[in-house]
Formats: sequence, C-alpha cells, structure tokens
Amino acid sequence: MSNPDPSELVPQVDFETDGRHEGFVRLFHSTHASAYGFLPIPVVVFRNGNGPTALLMAGSHGDEFEGQIALCKLAKSLDYRGLHGRVILFPMANFPAASAGLRTSPIDNGNLNRCYPGRPNGTVTEQIAYFIEHVLLPKADVVCDLHSGGSSLQYLPSALIRRCPDPDRYALHLSLLRAFGAPHAYITGGGNGTGAQQTLRGAAERQGPLLIGTELGGGNTVSSDALRIAERGICNVLVHAGILPESMQVAAPPSRLLEVGGPEYFVYAGETGVFEPRCDLGDPVSKGQLSGTIHFPETPGKPAVDQYFARDGTVLCKRVPGRTTRGDCLFHLGSELSGDDLG
Ligand SMILES: [Zn+2]
Repeated sequence: MSNPDPSELVPQVDFETDGRHEGFVRLFHSTHASAYGFLPIPVVVFRNGNGPTALLMAGSHGDEFEGQIALCKLAKSLDYRGLHGRVILFPMANFPAASAGLRTSPIDNGNLNRCYPGRPNGTVTEQIAYFIEHVLLPKADVVCDLHSGGSSLQYLPSALIRRCPDPDRYALHLSLLRAFGAPHAYITGGGNGTGAQQTLRGAAERQGPLLIGTELGGGNTVSSDALRIAERGICNVLVHAGILPESMQVAAPPSRLLEVGGPEYFVYAGETGVFEPRCDLGDPVSKGQLSGTIHFPETPGKPAVDQYFARDGTVLCKRVPGRTTRGDCLFHLGSELSGDDLG
C-alpha cells in the first residue's frame, strides 16, 4: 500500500505505553468564535503489554446513544492491568454530530459513515474519517462499531457483519458475530445504496481489522435492554479477541442468524404524508403483505396509499416518525440464513 499523507489530527494520548491514557484528539477548526481553537474528540487507551488491539467506536452517528453510554461505562470500569493487549475507546467518533445529538455534523452536514476514506485536508467530517482509516484502523485487530437506529429508525437489537468474498475472513467475522451474542445477528450484502466503500466496513476491508457492527434500538432514545446487550457484547468481543480472560465471558443465548440482502428487503415510502404502520418489529411477514398505509391529512378525501412487502422475512427495522417523505425507509427485513452461509 502506498504511504498515505499524514492526518492533520493530533492525538494527545499515548497509544504505545502501558497504562490508562485518557485525552483528546485535536482537530484544529478556526471559527468566528474560536480563531485558533480545536475540536476535542475524546479518546481513552488501555494497554497492558503486547497483544491484540480492539477499537471500540460509537457516535459515528450522533443520535445513537447506547454505544456512547456503554463506552462511558467501560472507560470507568476497565482495569488495564487485567488486559492482554490494548483497548481504544472512541465514543464520539463524529464529535460535532454527537455533541449536537444529530446523525450528521452541524458543521458540514457530513455523515461520517459515508465519508471514508476521507481526506487529510477535507471538511471536518472528512478529516475525522481520514484519521480513523489511516491512524486508528491500522492499529486494530478487531473493531466494534456501535450504532443504533438514530432518530428515524427503530431496530430489534442486533449485531451485524458484512458478507466478504474471502471464506477465511468470512468465517472469522461469523465467529465474532456469534461471540457478541445479540439476540438477532445478521449478515448484510449492503444492497440498499449505502455505498459500501464509503462506510467504516469498507475502510476496515482496506486496512485489515475484523469489524462487527450493531444496530441497538433507536428512535432518538436509550433502551436499557439494548444497552445491556451492547455491554455484554463488547465484553464478549474482548474475550473472543484474547484481550480479556475467558472468565470474563458473559453467557448469552445463541443469536438468531439472519441476512439482509438487496432492495427487495426494504420498503420505501412511495408518497409524502403520514405513515400508519401495519406490523411491528419482530413480526414474520410474507411477500405481498400490507406493511403500512400513507394518509394525506391535507386532503382528507384523497385515497390512502398502501405499501407492501416485496419478500418474506422478519421485520428488523421500522420507521419511527409519523410524517414521512417519498423515499424514506419504512421497514427492512431479515431472512433466515441458509445452511451454506453458516460457516
Ligand atoms: Zn448509525
């Protein structure tokens, strides 16, 4: 790989010596209110000798909270002396977005998880993406990227991996998914227009570490059940990576394994109006089944528009707000994983 340009961000923590190091990554940002100031992106490093490194990230989308809370709790409870290797906590990855409780940055509207590989001299969000891809990911053996549904979506608490063509790498990801122990776990093909190369998953494929993601709750709220699943999963990932001892493993029932494929797994609003859902999270549904109805209160006599599922599956995700605009995601499904994909 060619030598990348250095990141302009300046970490104020020591990644390489044993101990607990808490500080900031400085992102210099000159504004009307702060001519020579920097954005302080929090980071905590725990290291005890040579060993594997886990990078635990939250706040890529600033309105997803379970991961941010789980990493705050871990920042206080983890004892570096009990580790073999290193744990890096990066709980507000898109710091401006997380500070504002918004999915995207209020500075540049950047969606961090669509910005990779970023640019060293780009917008604030592009600079953060570049730092994560070229400074943090190369240090990591395993990455846990903690998402939830955000303001517009609600999920069954789930862990996920991306399908990859290398069977050995796929098997490693599958064992990581099982180790996390979420009630639902799914494998995504990334067929819903997310631009896989611009996500952290694309960055991890380029830089090498294994990556597991989550979708925990959502609706701009915090779910205590989803938070408990996140905390258990993080601990089990650290055990699985060999960073925490086996005795720290937290028992979890086996995950129900599903997959999320192409556009037929998704239902999008075909009209702008008020959305009436006709099913709930976890419901089994079939192709042609009514998913919801869009009403037009501005024109009460206008016939409502029904929306249907395009395939069989289980409802993994649903839209939260009642007002909807043509093109919004209303639902997505998961389908049972075939035996050939179970590794
Ligand atoms: Zn997210």
